[in-house]
Amino acid sequence: MKKYDIAIIGGGILGTSISYWISTLHDLNVCVIEKEEDVGQHSSTRNSGVVHYPFYLNSKRKKNFSKAAFLSHKMWKALACEKDIPWVQGGTIEIALDEDQHKTLEKYMTFGKSNGLTEEDISLLDSNELKKMEPNLSCYSGLYCTKEGSTNYGLLTKAITEISKKNGTDFLLKHHVKDVEEGSEETKIIFADNSSLTSKFVINCAGGNSLDIAKQFGLLTDYSDLHFRGEYWVADSTIANLVKTNIYTVPRYTQFPFLDPHWIKKANGQTEIGPNAVPVDSPETYESFITDISTVISKIADIVSGSTKKLLLNPDFISLISNEFMSSISKSAMVERVQKFIPAVKPENFPKRGTSGIRTPVISPDGEFVSEMKEVEGKNSFHIVNYNSPGATGAPAYSAFVVKQLQEKGVLPQAGEQKNSIWNFEEIV
Ligand SMILES: Cc1cc2nc3c(=O)[nH]c(=O)nc-3n(C[C@H](O)[C@H](O)[C@H](O)COP(=O)(O)OP(=O)(O)OC[C@H]3O[C@@H](n4cnc5c(N)ncnc54)[C@H](O)[C@@H]3O)c2cc1C
Repeated sequence: MKKYDIAIIGGGILGTSISYWISTLHDLNVCVIEKEEDVGQHSSTRNSGVVHYPFYLNSKRKKNFSKAAFLSHKMWKALACEKDIPWVQGGTIEIALDEDQHKTLEKYMTFGKSNGLTEEDISLLDSNELKKMEPNLSCYSGLYCTKEGSTNYGLLTKAITEISKKNGTDFLLKHHVKDVEEGSEETKIIFADNSSLTSKFVINCAGGNSLDIAKQFGLLTDYSDLHFRGEYWVADSTIANLVKTNIYTVPRYTQFPFLDPHWIKKANGQTEIGPNAVPVDSPETYESFITDISTVISKIADIVSGSTKKLLLNPDFISLISNEFMSSISKSAMVERVQKFIPAVKPENFPKRGTSGIRTPVISPDGEFVSEMKEVEGKNSFHIVNYNSPGATGAPAYSAFVVKQLQEKGVLPQAGEQKNSIWNFEEIV
């Protein structure tokens, strides 16, 4: 049976980035375990591709996400440039449709400043200034962030994987973790085909399955999760350039971790609208609403017995979910949401669907959505759950924070000279 020092479960942007740092800093036997044929097949490819800059993130409630997004911007830019991966810095305008929403933009200006953004990065514009910039946009006011843009996170995940591999990390593809057995010195990881390996330490970065895996280690047992599919529609060439920047709107329900559909200028030149947030039964239900009956029954049992049932008593949550559901069934319902700020668009301008992706927010024992990523330590394991947006943007810096923590806890030895890296670890941490 193969033995490792560190086994990382999940070959998404987070697991591969953590493996990358360990491979540049330490001489250890490390593997990344991924159930698919390649890395980055789930959220890390199936996302909006927006490079965020933390003007809208509360620096207290989302401290790690804000810091990571701020620091990662230049890191991804350097890698994209070196590997010839699309990188477009076209900016984002977050718009307010009325005075009330404008107050949220003023709050975002304060968040942005406390997250380190300068007046060159963000500014508040009134409707006349915005009309000059984007004549087809209709709104009350907007917050313009010059640093936001878009890229292809799937390609960045692959690029980071290649460097990690060169530095000696084993990538075990088509290895589906089914079970774990914790011993005093090492953990046995058992795969779907009954093969297994052992590792002295396990890092769980399994995205939409990470809470289930943490529970297999006996952790976070009173937490639950929900899966929401984000769907997109692709704009045809007659309207794709009506507006040149990304457009986000102030969310209607700020207590929930969903944004209303946006107008996205993708790095491949395409314009898309989305994502909505349609409840589905698993982190991989990309089509229809259910995977199979047993998955549905298990999710319903989870909801009825877990913390999620408290959310179902919240009328705002039920109203949000029914609107989101409508926008999945009816393209017109989705386009109507965009017509509020780009009146010229019509349903027939969106002839095909884009690639959908699934977000898995975690619900606390009190029935609240958890606002940050959640880290939890086991005896010989470390778990990251609720790693949602802007997780792709923040992955290079956040993964360095994780590695630093593991060094401080003595899980990883003190680092030697950093090798074969395009980013400087000490500068980031
Ligand atoms: C619709 C949508 C839009 C988004 N838009 C943006 C955006 O514009 N900008 C941004 O910064 N972020 C965005 N995000 C968030 C971002 O994509 C995620 O935070 C990030 O990709 C999460 O990476 P991850 O590595 O944790 O998860 P994943 O990419 O999901 O990786 C987890 C991996 O674990 C593997 N795995 C799971 N279970 C097992 C198992 N049992 N055995 C072996 N392997 C397993 C999976 O196959 C998967 O490859 C968006 C997300 C979604 C869904």
